[in-house]
Amino acid sequence: MVYQARWIDRFLPSTCLLCGAAASIGLDACADCIADLPENGPACTACAMPLPEPGLCGACLRSPPRVSASYCAFRYTYPVRELLLRFKGGGDLATGRMLTELMARQLAARTCIEGKDWTLVPVPLARERLGVRGFNQAERIARVLGKRLGMQVASHLASRVRTTPDQKGLSAAERRRNLDGAFAVRPCAGKRLLLVDDVMTTGATANALAGAFLAAGAGELRLWCLARAV
Ligand SMILES: [Zn+2]
Ligand SMILES: [Zn+2]
Repeated sequence: MVYQARWIDRFLPSTCLLCGAAASIGLDACADCIADLPENGPACTACAMPLPEPGLCGACLRSPPRVSASYCAFRYTYPVRELLLRFKGGGDLATGRMLTELMARQLAARTCIEGKDWTLVPVPLARERLGVRGFNQAERIARVLGKRLGMQVASHLASRVRTTPDQKGLSAAERRRNLDGAFAVRPCAGKRLLLVDDVMTTGATANALAGAFLAAGAGELRLWCLARAV
């Protein structure tokens, strides 16, 4: 029966997770729904905030973030927001995988894609949150990207040592304070690390983790997220 199920997987098209129509080959989404997804487009190279053309936004010029570059595949608006809630809140791993496959295709099409000397590091979840959810969404994303782009994933380099209250509704300064001392990292002298997360809101989480890695000797940090809050 297992053999039969695999055979069916290979020869029958899967259905689109958004509309139920036949999906594109190798993806659980149809071409029309993919075309309707809000890609992030031109953005600040440091914080991925949408801009009329790529460059640095005013906020990053005034105060450069610790990550030297950020890339977000989509904007955190309909229907990406709803799809991510299905993935994170509802445990719908197929939806998370489909969005990450699309992100990997975007990244593979870019000429400036980071090479094999970069290591992917998923932003760790607090143990309590991991216990409730059963998986770390950032790790799922990093594993698919690593496989598709031929990059190493090193989840063991970072952990959350302190549970931080939910960041929702906090100002940027409050988010920074909330995350002080939240992460523990392993020595990583000279390493080029690519932090991976699901959603970038203010960038406070990635910057707190980047700060810990820089203190541990990392050479350079960048950030990849599925979606950017705009
Ligand atoms: Zn569709
Ligand atoms: Zn910026």
